[in-house]
Amino acid sequence: MEKVVENLVGEQGMAIADAAVTSLKERKITPSPENYAVWLAYHSSIHAELRAELEMMIAAKRVIDDDVCDQLYIKYFEDIAIGSRLIKAGGKIAAEMEDVRKGLVTAGIKTKAYGEKLEVAKQELAKTDSPLITRDLVDGLVSATGEMATQSRHLETKLAESSVEIEALRVQLEQVRIEAATDSLTGLANRKEFDSRLADMCVASDQGAGPVAIIMADIDFFKRINDTFGHQTGDQVIRFVATVMDRAKPKGGVVARVGGEEFAMIAPMTDRKTAMAIAEKIRQTVEGKRLVRRSSNEDLGKITISLGVAQRRQTEKPADMVERADAALYASKRNGRNRVSQEELTNAKAA
Ligand code: GH3
Ligand code: MG
Ligand code: MG
Repeated sequence: MEKVVENLVGEQGMAIADAAVTSLKERKITPSPENYAVWLAYHSSIHAELRAELEMMIAAKRVIDDDVCDQLYIKYFEDIAIGSRLIKAGGKIAAEMEDVRKGLVTAGIKTKAYGEKLEVAKQELAKTDSPLITRDLVDGLVSATGEMATQSRHLETKLAESSVEIEALRVQLEQVRIEAATDSLTGLANRKEFDSRLADMCVASDQGAGPVAIIMADIDFFKRINDTFGHQTGDQVIRFVATVMDRAKPKGGVVARVGGEEFAMIAPMTDRKTAMAIAEKIRQTVEGKRLVRRSSNEDLGKITISLGVAQRRQTEKPADMVERADAALYASKRNGRNRVSQEELTNAKAA
């Protein structure tokens, strides 16, 4: 998401902000922060899916009014807190850039005035018969030069301040971006991030980056753990399984928490056989560890998980692959839990 930052900073950032405002005006859309966010996202690469959806609507000549913008906002910025923080940080950058722009305009005007004074002086010098430069002329030039120097010092200070401020905002934006992609309980990727990374890796695979496999996992009888030991201990178990899965991921892999006690791993450059071995190792590690309830030192008993593995078929849609891995996971549940199943052994849509 470095791109967001690049896109919101600099002259390009101003152009994007202007374009968003113009779109709101042209379409007579209420200039609310939410609607502004939708169009800011459209004119930048903050949100490729939102942009694609809007492009389709525009191509289909659909009327895009406040209601449509509302729906888009809810769909793509459902985490309002994150959305509004993004808007705030983006807005601050825009304001900062506007200050710099105004400073540059003022400097431009002053430079022009200075240039004009020099021009007058040149003409005066050309006119005069005497080689002596008049006192007035010299005084005028000295004072104009002084003003220019003050102005450029002022501008320099302002630019230095702005670049410090923009750097701080860039760090803030990066922080928000990371939070938006992260599951707060486990620190793993969240569902949204999983979907987006899977889509990227499928594209890479289509372009020759090798096979992609996914491993889905669900904790067995988790309700029982919650009911017996309480929600907090349940959370401890979720974090434990998250850590085991994260440590088992291959290079370039992503592990996400995709549901309450459900996890998914994307394994790039990994075929089904290798993914099966990874999944089996995860299963054994979870089964082999004895967990103790933090508050009371009670033994939690054996924790087990069920897993499902699928390797992407050529040009298969990411959602279809997830569905096949899910079906394999449920085969593991049906066949007694605490096991790994692969897609082939399920009766899922094995086309
Ligand atoms: P199964 O072996 O069939 O998976 O049985 P299960 O008991 O694990 O069944 P299920 O997967 O349906 O149960 C999920 C439970 O997870 C239900 C819900 O109360 C609990 N849960 C969901 N999110 C959280 C969470 O963030 N923390 C805790 N502690 N529990 C959660
Ligand atoms: Mg479960
Ligand atoms: Mg579950």
